[in-house]
Amino acid sequence: MPAHDLAHRIRGRDDPDVVVVGAGTAGLAAARHLCAAGLSVTVLEAAQHVGGRMAGEEVDGFRLDQGLHLLNTSLPELSRSLDPGRLELRPLAPGVLVHAGGRRYRVGDPRIPAARLAAVRAPIGSPLDKARLGAALGRLAATPVPQLLRRPELTTAQALAARGLSARVVDGFLRPLLTALLSDPELSTSSRCADLVLRAYARGRLCLPAGGAAAVPRQLAEGLPPGTVRLGVRATAVSADGVETEGHGRVRGRCTVLATDAASAARLLPGLHLPGFHPVTTYYHVAPEAPLAEPLLLLDADRASPVSHSLVLSRVDPSYAPPGRSLVATAVLGRRSFDAGGPAALEPRVRRRLSELYGTSTAAWAFLAVRHVEQAVPAMPPPHHFGRPVRVIGGLYVCGDHRDTSSVQGALVSGRRAARQILRDLGAPALVREAAAA
Ligand SMILES: Cc1cc2nc3c(=O)[nH]c(=O)nc-3n(C[C@H](O)[C@H](O)[C@H](O)COP(=O)(O)OP(=O)(O)OC[C@H]3O[C@@H](n4cnc5c(N)ncnc54)[C@H](O)[C@@H]3O)c2cc1C
Repeated sequence: MPAHDLAHRIRGRDDPDVVVVGAGTAGLAAARHLCAAGLSVTVLEAAQHVGGRMAGEEVDGFRLDQGLHLLNTSLPELSRSLDPGRLELRPLAPGVLVHAGGRRYRVGDPRIPAARLAAVRAPIGSPLDKARLGAALGRLAATPVPQLLRRPELTTAQALAARGLSARVVDGFLRPLLTALLSDPELSTSSRCADLVLRAYARGRLCLPAGGAAAVPRQLAEGLPPGTVRLGVRATAVSADGVETEGHGRVRGRCTVLATDAASAARLLPGLHLPGFHPVTTYYHVAPEAPLAEPLLLLDADRASPVSHSLVLSRVDPSYAPPGRSLVATAVLGRRSFDAGGPAALEPRVRRRLSELYGTSTAAWAFLAVRHVEQAVPAMPPPHHFGRPVRVIGGLYVCGDHRDTSSVQGALVSGRRAARQILRDLGAPALVREAAAA
């Protein structure tokens, strides 16, 4: 069919060209790419807000994310799907602060050349160990992604043991860092995913957008034509030509993108790959004074501790807290059977540990909130399939972090892949070229 006929066909009726189910990061990214190519899109979202797992909220003047998110300035998709300038990425201070065996030390600053790392005063091994670590990070930073994805695939824990790094480097830096970045205390994640995460760490800086993680889906939603997103509309069945909803009838379109979380997607399309999940529990405390002078990620390397990592959010971006107060977010990872009091019952233990980690009294800290997300991060054990197909059948597509990597980057990539596939199937690349030529 000639492109101009297709243009007429896909724009000539009231129904949108594409119905997207889910206004999380992946669904909004797909909608944004489709709208940019000239297609009309309706996004149906069950919740009363956009953002899914990256949605934000305000509690007593503090900004809370669904949990402590960490992005990286080097993630390529941030500039492909978003305007990174407008996102105002706020980098954390280079390196991390590790608490291990009662001591605190700063380590892992990728700006320090491998040759000088040996002199860094961190008790994570001999000078040779530190130089080896620096060289390994440098090599990772320079390795092209396709080459990384051809490396033998083990669990991250197995790979750390097999790569000839000393136990002190592993336990005193790499294990706590990867635990935090993968939300995986067992390090059962594919070593290829860990390599990608470490490569990003070595190339860029950990960061958060100004205004919190929710700024990512917010910017995507703001880029859509008014009325594109319909909130409070839950899909109950999906097919290539439309979506059945709870209480809002059938919404027809020429194709459908299922952009929900993995568990909802598998309910709506039985047979779809359903991964396991890593739960994340985040404790928010208000401190009268920031316990650290810099926006540094604090890692707890003690395996017996409930805490994985902690960050003074208001040091990264002052808008997290009202003036004169500090907001501290602390992540507790893994599946735990909270007692009758739920996650809040663990707070006194978390606060006691925070006092040791930050080296200051936390008695005057106020417990603001706790957020537990049971299915926070889809598990990625080996063999991990990077880039699961986004086309289910002609006209029916699926995207979400569970199709790529369990991350903001993965969600954005999957949304763009789904949009690209639709445009290809509709013959729309010609449409885009026509529009550009007109
Ligand atoms: C606590 C926590 C910490 C995290 N930390 C990091 C981190 O540090 N770095 C990182 O990169 N990633 C992190 N992640 C992961 C990241 O948030 C996700 O990978 C990403 O947000 C997934 O986006 P998505 O669009 O695929 O899914 P979602 O955000 O889950 O969006 C799916 C949307 O579909 C909607 N929906 C579901 N069912 C229906 C239905 N039937 N009808 C209509 N709508 C429906 C949902 O309401 C939701 O809005 C973290 C996640 C959590 C929860």
